[in-house]
Amino acid sequence: MKITPIPCLSDNYAYLVECEATGANALVDASEAAPVLKALEARGVRKLGAIWSTHHHFDHVGGNEAVASALGVSEIAGHASDKGRIPGQTRFVEEGEESALGAIRVKTLHIPGHTLGAVAYVLTDDTGAPAVFTGDTLFLAGCGRLFEGTPAMMHTSLSKLAALPPDTRVYCGHEYTQSNLRFAAHVEPGNAKVRARAERASELRARGVETVPGTMAEELETNPFLRVRSEEIRRTLGIPQNASDAEALGAIRAAKDAF
Ligand SMILES: [Zn+2]
Repeated sequence: MKITPIPCLSDNYAYLVECEATGANALVDASEAAPVLKALEARGVRKLGAIWSTHHHFDHVGGNEAVASALGVSEIAGHASDKGRIPGQTRFVEEGEESALGAIRVKTLHIPGHTLGAVAYVLTDDTGAPAVFTGDTLFLAGCGRLFEGTPAMMHTSLSKLAALPPDTRVYCGHEYTQSNLRFAAHVEPGNAKVRARAERASELRARGVETVPGTMAEELETNPFLRVRSEEIRRTLGIPQNASDAEALGAIRAAKDAF
């Protein structure tokens, strides 16, 4: 599979997914129409099979209808509970639902927390590592704000993502990696992997290159929201060592909101 990030708005990413074996294609998160249509035209893509929305926020679905009508899209997917909140939605997916994009196997995970209808799309084929589109739930080295869900929900959702194979490539909804790593270094100053990742991210951004994708292995090593049991993070933020994982996540999220 081939995955191309398309920068939209100030720091959003839409993604073009192409199955090289069959020519099937789909777009993850039509944030806004103009940059998506321009990028697809530049690649000679005149027809698009589907749009997969990760959640209902406008900066992820604002281009749904314009992109769909320009490129003959027949399917706009999103979680069943987002019915009425995702423009043009034609497909209402649930946890664990499986489908195919040409030779690519697609599995939907329901990952509430940032919003109640947030979903991830996990893509697997025989050409390499899996890929996951996490929207605003899991960012590289961070997680989304809890607009609709609880810390316990977010912890369950992040744990579901963290259980994917370690070589899974993580494609998230925003380029927040550098600021997320500044917070990660603040709460876990002894973590050398955070420092190394921050240097790599700065080097990429200085050249105007996206930090996506990361890998799930990197997330497990550096993302404070996947490291809720870290003694150092708990010490830094005054979270009792015997607090539950969900309580720790809530405290880390509150600290990030104020950072
Ligand atoms: Zn969002």
